[in-house]
Amino acid sequence: MIKSPVYTHCFITVKALKVHYIHYLCTIKTKFYLSMIHISDRVTNLSPSQTLAMSQKSSELKAQGVDVINLSVGEPDFNTPDHIKEAAKKAIDDNFSFYTPVAGYMSLRKAIAQNLREVNGVEYAPEQIVVGGGAKQALCNAVLSIVNPGDEVIIPTPAWVSYVEMVKLAEGTNVLVPAGIDQNFKITPEQLEKAITPRTRLIIICSPSNPTGSVYTKAELQGLVDVLKKYPDITIIADEIYQHINFTGSFTSLGTFPEVADRVVVVNGVSKAYAMTGWRIGFIAAPLQVAKAVSKLQSQYTSNPSSIAQKAAEAAYTGSQECVEEMRRAFERRRDLVVSLAKEIPDIEVNVPQGAFYLFPKVSAYFGKRFGDKVIENDTDLAMYLLEEGHVATVAGEAFCLPGYIRLSYATSDDNIREAMRRIAEALKKLK
Ligand code: PMP
Ligand code: GLU
Repeated sequence: MIKSPVYTHCFITVKALKVHYIHYLCTIKTKFYLSMIHISDRVTNLSPSQTLAMSQKSSELKAQGVDVINLSVGEPDFNTPDHIKEAAKKAIDDNFSFYTPVAGYMSLRKAIAQNLREVNGVEYAPEQIVVGGGAKQALCNAVLSIVNPGDEVIIPTPAWVSYVEMVKLAEGTNVLVPAGIDQNFKITPEQLEKAITPRTRLIIICSPSNPTGSVYTKAELQGLVDVLKKYPDITIIADEIYQHINFTGSFTSLGTFPEVADRVVVVNGVSKAYAMTGWRIGFIAAPLQVAKAVSKLQSQYTSNPSSIAQKAAEAAYTGSQECVEEMRRAFERRRDLVVSLAKEIPDIEVNVPQGAFYLFPKVSAYFGKRFGDKVIENDTDLAMYLLEEGHVATVAGEAFCLPGYIRLSYATSDDNIREAMRRIAEALKKLK
């Protein structure tokens, strides 16, 4: 700790004062150097994850004693199943404590390849699979490996908060293609065709979707593929992290379309399906060139994902899948509950999400209304109002590049859902 030299030495000799004066100057100089730290434009221009920020805000309010219900962050509220936790404990005892291969243990990559073959009917060699620190890092690795500065990346919106930021990191150009509630938040082949230019290099498709829960049917995906097959230099990232939280009874991976399969990068992982968000294991299954590029990148900045978490993920993929189905059923029941309660609230428009655990109601009818002297101008104001007045944390649609909406994550107990929807209804009623 730096003492104040003026205060400490006002009673001592001139000589000592001189020494301390020099010390003081050094202190000033050190402070001066500290203030010269530069933060890169790359990071300065990046927005922090608003889903995580809102969740943190809600935790802070809770710590202050405010009874907040957190519908902001998207993560299952279930504990990781026991057999997966046992595998991790065993991995610790068996000394899986060393660096692993950069792309992950071969046994895990084989288990993932087998799972993709058996569940999705897609064929990837283990060499085409690179495991990363969560689907988020796996996806970011892929974006950084594919996108050059100035390349255009098509992102149907609303879109998960991180896509546009990852493209910004890669110095690419985001081309947003909006799809509102009137089209069930799914883009059409015509919209896609219109967005493509000679600079388009990548499209990121998320189904089941965060933040809307919409699921593209096989026929709808075929429509998009029919456009994309004409543009062989566009790579397709298929974010399928919510594939197992699907209420339609069928799931089609973009990797199954032969016209484009050789340029589809599938992103998936254990976070959502196996309630393992904190373990940080996700992967890409990709054309070999992309897998190699991603491995090279990963070798320089993370080396490998956690050895213990990899062993846990292996148990997830090779063990009983009963837990996945149990959680899926719980999410479906909660989906029905949240939709029925939301439909009772005047002037908000809802669709029926077919997967994931989000509801994305249109709330723009409340814009321009006021509570006291506070006017609700937009969805960010509304999300803040719901937090402050209703003590319910949600995320503004703007964070997902589609203003006019808010996102509710219903990955929480039935009681929390009921109480949160009651509070939202009450808070909205107060707006005049
Ligand atoms: N994609 C989407 C659409 C997500 O919602 C998430 C969850 N944050 C991820 C990827 C990343 O998942 P993970 O927790 O495995 O990094
Ligand atoms: N996917 C989750 C969400 O959208 C986790 C938060 C995040 O990774 O941004 O809330």
